[in-house]
Amino acid sequence: MSDMFVQEMEELLVVMRKELLDKLTEDNSDFREMVNAMGIKDSIDVAADDIAFKKMEAINKHEATRLRSIENALARIHNGRYGHCLKCTKRIPEERLRAIPYAVLCIDCKSAEEAPGRR
Ligand SMILES: [Zn+2]
Repeated sequence: MSDMFVQEMEELLVVMRKELLDKLTEDNSDFREMVNAMGIKDSIDVAADDIAFKKMEAINKHEATRLRSIENALARIHNGRYGHCLKCTKRIPEERLRAIPYAVLCIDCKSAEEAPGRR
């Protein structure tokens, strides 16, 4: 995986994070006030903050979970583990990352996780 590709994904993830955060703050003035008060709007990981995350979850669980996945992916870029499956550590194909930049599992592990009858 080239540095250029990772950089491209990082830029995408940052944009996605901002859009999600904008959407969540737009939908809820309480949350917006909290984000502003914390001074974290554009910088640090809101989703890593438990109180902020719980609040986001209350507004929109689906988007909150997505935001957390984005934060995870960004953290993995920073520690050099981006693009490797969380479970089996195999490389995640670039096509998959292009489709879902915040994917942390390879297709095999993902489908195993989603397989019916498994918990
Ligand atoms: Zn895997």
